[in-house]
Amino acid sequence: MEIASFSGSITRDKDGKPVVHVHCVVALLRNGAVYAGHLLHGRVSLTLQLYLTDSEPLLRRRNQYIRARIEQVMVHERSATFR
Ligand SMILES: [Zn+2]
Repeated sequence: MEIASFSGSITRDKDGKPVVHVHCVVALLRNGAVYAGHLLHGRVSLTLQLYLTDSEPLLRRRNQYIRARIEQVMVHERSATFR
């Protein structure tokens, strides 16, 4: 079996436990059949190269931007109310 695609995310649930969500495409070497879906469990027999990125700083900046925009809208609505 060959992994053709492997992507997803690792987040945390409300209790802080890691939650792995992976979409995977695999090809069977013996007949070329391809299967895709969520990876529920698996075991690597030789090697698996993974490239992980930490999106926490990006998500933090995005959330700060959203909060700032909400505050701007609220201030604008408040000032519009008193005109
Ligand atoms: Zn999914």
